[in-house]
Amino acid sequence: MKRFVYADNAATTRVSEEVVAAMLPYFSEQYGNASSPYRFGQASKEAIQKAREQVAAALGAEKPLPNRLPEVFFTSCGTESDNWALKGVMHAMAKRGKRHLITTNFEHHAILHSAQALEKEGFSVTYLPVDHEGLITPEQVADAIREDTALVSVLYANNEIGTLLPIPEIGAVCHDRGVLFHTDAVQAVGNVPIDVKAQHIDLLSLSGHKLHAPKGIGALYIRKGVVLPSLIDGGAQEFKHRAGTENVPYIVGLGTAIEAACRDIPARAARLQAMRDRLIDGILERIPHARLNGSRTRRLPGNVNFSFEGIEGEGMLLWLDQEGICASSGSACTSGDLDPSHVLLAIGLPHGVAHGSLRLSLGDDNTMEDVDYILEKLPPIVERLRAMSPVWERILAGEPVE
Ligand SMILES: *Cc1c(COP(=O)(O)O)cnc(C)c1O
Repeated sequence: MKRFVYADNAATTRVSEEVVAAMLPYFSEQYGNASSPYRFGQASKEAIQKAREQVAAALGAEKPLPNRLPEVFFTSCGTESDNWALKGVMHAMAKRGKRHLITTNFEHHAILHSAQALEKEGFSVTYLPVDHEGLITPEQVADAIREDTALVSVLYANNEIGTLLPIPEIGAVCHDRGVLFHTDAVQAVGNVPIDVKAQHIDLLSLSGHKLHAPKGIGALYIRKGVVLPSLIDGGAQEFKHRAGTENVPYIVGLGTAIEAACRDIPARAARLQAMRDRLIDGILERIPHARLNGSRTRRLPGNVNFSFEGIEGEGMLLWLDQEGICASSGSACTSGDLDPSHVLLAIGLPHGVAHGSLRLSLGDDNTMEDVDYILEKLPPIVERLRAMSPVWERILAGEPVE
C-alpha cells in the first residue's frame, strides 16, 4: 500500500493543530496593533509578552518583565536572527578595534554568507575546519582566539548531518577569554535541552518553522548587557531593537510551539531516536556501500543522512517522491545547486560520494510504520539507480572514480 511519508522535517515542519488554534484569534478577532494605547491594542501586547515569556523559559533566559528590556527579541526568521547576531556584534565591536570573527566551515548559509559579507566590509573571519563527523573541539576555538576576536559563532546542531557540537564547552572557552559567543540553534531548540546561562551562550538564533510554528517567524536571544545595533530600522517596536509592526499571530504561534516542543524533550527525543536508529540500522543492513554521514552518537534525534556510492541524490529524491516519500539531498537551500553540499565536503567526502547523499529527517508526526515503509522502498531504488550508473561497475571493481 502506498503511503505519504514526510521525512524532511529539517527543511520545515507541519504547523501543529495546537499552534494553529492559538494563532487563529489574532488574525480577524484580536487584530489590534500592539503599539496602540487602547485596550484592544493592549491585548496584542499582552499576547506578545506571554510568547516572550514562553521563549525565554524554553531557553533558560531571564523572565521578561513588562516594559523592561528583555533578552528575547522576535524577528522574521532564523536567517534574520543569524544576520543580526553576526553583523550587529561585529559592527558594534569594530568600534573597540575588534574585527575578527570565528566560525566553522559547515554552518548554515545564513551564517556563512553573513560572514562572507562581513569579510567584504573588511572584517577578518576564521572558518574552523570540522572533522569527519562534523565536530570541532573547544581547543580549536581557544587556539583561534586572537587579541582582536569579537565573536565566536558555532552551529548547535547541523541541519544536514545532525551533528551536535560541544556548545557548553565552547561557550566556556569564549567566556574564559572574554569573547562573545553566538550559536545558531535553529535545529537544536526542542530537540536537546538548552540553557543559555549554564551553557555560556550570549546570543542564540531560533526559527519557528522547524518546530511546528509557521515559516516567517524567529527570535534572537541577546544576553543582558550585550549591546548591538538593530538590523531593521524604523519604528520603536521590540524595545527599539527590531522595527516593524509585530506579527502577533506568528509570535503567539512561536510561543505556543516552543513551549510544546520543550515540554518533554527527553520523551520526544527518545521516540525520535528509536525511529532514527531503526532506520539507520535497516539501511546499513539492506544497502551495500552505504555510508552514514555524521556522528553515530552525537546526533540530532531525528536525523538520518547517508551517502550511497555510485548514484545521484537527485535521482533518489524523484523515485522516493514516486513512492510518496519526501526527503532531501543535502539541504533544501542547496538542492537545485550543482555543487555538492558544503557540509558533506567539509566532513571530507569526495565530490562523487557527496552527490549520492540522502537526508531523511524524522519528526513528531512520523511513526515506525513510516520507517518500515522507507526501508521497504529505498533499497530497490538504490539498486535500480546503481544498475543504470556509469560508475557503479568501476566502484565494485575497486577502480578509482573521479
Ligand atoms: C532553517 C535554518 C535556518 C534558517 O531559518 P529560516 O527561518 O528558514 O530563515 C538557519 N539555520 C539553520 C541551522 C537552519 O536549519
